[in-house]
Amino acid sequence: MTIDIDWENLGFNYMKLPYRFVTHYKNGQWEAGQLTEDATLHLSESSPALHYGQQAFEGLKAYRTKSGDIQLFRPDENAARLQKTADRLMMPQVPTDLFVSAVKSVVKANHEYVPPYTSGGSLYLRPLLIGVGDIIGVQPAQEYIFTVFAMPVGSYFKGGLTPTNFIVSRDFDRAAPHGTGAAKVGGNYAGSLLPGKQAHDAGYSDVIYLDPATHTKIEEVGSANFFGITKDNEFVTPLSPSILPSITKYSLLYLAEHRLGLKAIEGDVVIADLDRFSEAGACGTAAVISPIAGIQNGDDYHVFYSETEVGPITQKLYDELVGIQKGDVLAPEGWIDKVELD
Ligand SMILES: *Cc1c(COP(=O)(O)O)cnc(C)c1O
Repeated sequence: MTIDIDWENLGFNYMKLPYRFVTHYKNGQWEAGQLTEDATLHLSESSPALHYGQQAFEGLKAYRTKSGDIQLFRPDENAARLQKTADRLMMPQVPTDLFVSAVKSVVKANHEYVPPYTSGGSLYLRPLLIGVGDIIGVQPAQEYIFTVFAMPVGSYFKGGLTPTNFIVSRDFDRAAPHGTGAAKVGGNYAGSLLPGKQAHDAGYSDVIYLDPATHTKIEEVGSANFFGITKDNEFVTPLSPSILPSITKYSLLYLAEHRLGLKAIEGDVVIADLDRFSEAGACGTAAVISPIAGIQNGDDYHVFYSETEVGPITQKLYDELVGIQKGDVLAPEGWIDKVELD
């Protein structure tokens, strides 16, 4: 069967694939779950996920290798992060085995939709955990749905590896100092829609949020983490309890140090001191590595490496990361999980 998709021009858009995985949590335990062709969730109108935001999600990708195999990048890390988010929102943890086997079953059932190696695309997987059932008071749900669905995607920011501009949000924070910034929950995103729209309308790729307590340090981009390369060959990324711990970011910290010989640092990125960086970028599963051309901060517009070209270290990090994800570069132990098709 051939599928009629323009693989080279996929954006980041929903596409209804034939199969998704769904399981229910009832009476204190997860059911085995199954693949289904039904793309509609069935849930009570009073579900806590709908009223009080008791929900969490994940995002990871399946990649086609040169030989045609399909592989996942660190899915156990996504499982672990969903467990942490579940703890914060008083939801039951999805065991790592259930998480990874659900993801693999969805990839396998929709394997024809994993973009070809040469297209630059991948299959984006969206695990979702929601509190459901007949409860109207503010309290944790007794029942939950865990589902995983998928769609082929290309690049998230329009530019790909072309640098784009970002703008510092002065009127809005993404998270509170001791809130849910480190949990991958929809509530963090609902509040980011308005600043995101304003940034897009003004011609920027996305918003850069500052730390909510002092507004002096970069926290992260709306949906990706921030990194900068200093003039002294350091890879620096913000350390804060209110940013989302990006698996891509931790992978880059490792690769920067062990493959590129840079000094890898998690620390403060003071917005008034951007001159120390010769390159900067945003990183995440969806964003991959998106070079930052410049940052608009009030009246100040700060350009990093170039407004049109990706910097040499950002390019090397990209080649290393994407090379590993697509199977062209040897991965550190445990980073690649193959999906067996039969
Ligand atoms: C998911 C997400 C990221 C990126 O995390 P990855 O694990 O690298 O995909 C960054 N910031 C926010 C707010 C996120 O939700």
